[in-house]
Amino acid sequence: MTNSLEGKIAAVTGAASGIGLECVRHMIDAGAEVYLLDRDASALDKAAAELGGKAHACVVDLFDYPTVDAAVSRIVGEKGQLDIFHANAGAYVGGNVWDGNPDSWDPMLHLNINAAFRSVRAALPQMMKQESGDIIVTSSIAGVVPIMAEPIYTASKHAVQAFVHTVRRQVAQFGIRVGAIQPGPVVTPLLKDWDPARLKANIEAGAMMEANEVAEAVMFMLTRRKGVIVRDLVLLPHHFDV
Ligand code: NAD
Repeated sequence: MTNSLEGKIAAVTGAASGIGLECVRHMIDAGAEVYLLDRDASALDKAAAELGGKAHACVVDLFDYPTVDAAVSRIVGEKGQLDIFHANAGAYVGGNVWDGNPDSWDPMLHLNINAAFRSVRAALPQMMKQESGDIIVTSSIAGVVPIMAEPIYTASKHAVQAFVHTVRRQVAQFGIRVGAIQPGPVVTPLLKDWDPARLKANIEAGAMMEANEVAEAVMFMLTRRKGVIVRDLVLLPHHFDV
């Protein structure tokens, strides 16, 4: 454990589970105070109780945009700063375009695209005022290459990538860094609807990662010296075939 984030104030969306929760753990271990933004109030309470005084539960439904702005206002009101904003929450729908219920695409697209963009936007005014800040967006390997089993998810994460790359250039002048982490498959509740045969085959083939491995990569991004940016970080299990 290092104290590389001592004195930093962070916010993480989708913080009550999976990758978000592991990132929160790592940030706190490195000395940051972290606001956990999620809609799952009971999971948030459990996480905050486990993580102690440097974790602050903040119930936010990312579909309800003003609640994100209100969460950022609360953070700035309480701490006077916002150093790290990790737009991590996302959903997953896989399968062929002609199978399944296309209505299931809408909430996923809404969360992965609109809500992610609005979350990032909410963090900008304070960071622009400070003339510093780190924004990390959880994209996916599906934002880098097409994953044939998941066309709509792939499309959503490609949109995320386009957003990250353009916003990064817009806000660089304010001293704000924007980067995307692009993991391959990670064992989290997100993949609960995966075909069990696909999940089993991937685990047996060594083609899955753990959430803490993604958190370590996020910490690498956050702890580069000022003036250096990790723009994209692809993290893959060795035996994941893309
Ligand atoms: P997860 O399902 O474990 O956690 C997602 C969290 O988001 C949950 O706590 C959930 O309550 C929260 N959430 C969902 N909708 C919300 C809403 N409307 N408002 C507020 N909170 C909401 O998922 P995960 O695997 O940790 O995924 C996190 C991110 O990582 C996502 O963007 C996902 O696309 C990306 N990702 C996941 C994998 C993987 O294989 N698990 C791989 C690459 C990228």
